[in-house]
Amino acid sequence: MSAAIIDGKALAAAVKAEAAAEVEALRAKGVAPCLAVLLVGDDPASAVYVRGKAADCAQCGIESRVIRLDAATTQEELLARLEALAADESVHGILVQLPLPAHIDEAAVIAAIPPEKDVDGFTPVNAGNLLTGGDCFAPCTPAGCIRMIQSTGIDIAGKRAVVVGRSNIVGKPAALLLLARNATVTVCHSRTKDLAAICREADILVAAVGRAGFITGDMVKPGAVVIDVGINRGADGKLHGDVDFAAAAEKAAFITPVPGGVGLMTRAMLMKNTVKAAQRHCD
Ligand code: NDP
Repeated sequence: MSAAIIDGKALAAAVKAEAAAEVEALRAKGVAPCLAVLLVGDDPASAVYVRGKAADCAQCGIESRVIRLDAATTQEELLARLEALAADESVHGILVQLPLPAHIDEAAVIAAIPPEKDVDGFTPVNAGNLLTGGDCFAPCTPAGCIRMIQSTGIDIAGKRAVVVGRSNIVGKPAALLLLARNATVTVCHSRTKDLAAICREADILVAAVGRAGFITGDMVKPGAVVIDVGINRGADGKLHGDVDFAAAAEKAAFITPVPGGVGLMTRAMLMKNTVKAAQRHCD
C-alpha cells in the first residue's frame, strides 16, 4: 500500500477541540450553545446517530435537547414543535433526524427550519446560499470531506475533482464546495457514461454512491486524494465504503478509511455548525 491514510478519528478530535474552545469563548460572553434534535419514530440506526450527536455535544460543552416523538406523530404536530424551537432563543441549532416516517413530507419539514438555525444545511435557503456563494451552513458531510482534503496539504485550486453521486446532502454540495475552492469539478451519477475513465482523471475523487466497493483500483489516478463517503453494511455485518480500499490505496496518495473516516468528520462538523449558529447571537 502506498497511500497515506487520512485519519478521520484524529482530525475529528481536532475539529471538536476547536469547537470546544469556541464554546468556551461563547460561554464567557454569556451564550450557552444549544442544539435541539428532533427524532420521530424508533428507527434503531437513527437512535444511534442521535445518541452520537448528544455525546459529541457533551464533549464540546454544547447543550443538547433531544426531543423524541412517537412514530405516529402527525406532520402538523412536528411543524408545531419546530415552530416552538424556532421561537426559542436559547436554542441555536435545530436538526431533524432523517429519515422521517413515510406519512410526513420531509421537504416541508426541512423548509420549516429557520435558515439561521439549520445546522444540517439542508434548507432551501442554505442550499441556495451555498450555490450563490453567500454565507451559509454547509452540509456537514461534504464540509467534512473538504477538511479531510485540506488536511493533506494539497492545494484544491486548479485540481480536477470528480464527485460520484449527486444527492442533495452529499454529492451536489460536495461539488459546490470544491468549485468554490476553484477545483474543476465533474459530477457523475447513475446515467454517466464512461464513469471509470472520468474517475481516472480525478486528482480528487469523492465517492458518495452507496454501493460497497464501487470504486475499484483501476478507477483511481496515481497520486489522487480519495474520499470515501459511503457507509454500507455488508453481509458480514461490517461497514464498508464505496471504495475498494486495498486496491485504491495502491494507487492513491491519500485515502480515507471506512469506518474511521468521513462519518466521524460529519459528526465533528455538526459541532462546528452549531457553534457558528450560536456565534450569530454575539454579532
Ligand atoms: P443517495 O442514494 O441519495 O445518492 C447516491 C448517488 O449515487 C445518486 O446520485 C446516484 O445516481 C449515484 N449512483 C447510484 N448508483 C450509481 C452507479 N451505478 N453509477 C454512478 N452513480 C450511481 O445517497 P447519499 O448521497 O445520501 O449517500 C451516499 C453514500 O454515502 C451512502 O453509502 C450513505 O450511507 C453514505 N453517507 C455517509 C455519510 C457519512 O457521514 N459518512 C453521510 C451521508 C451519507 P442518480 O442520482 O442518478 O440516482
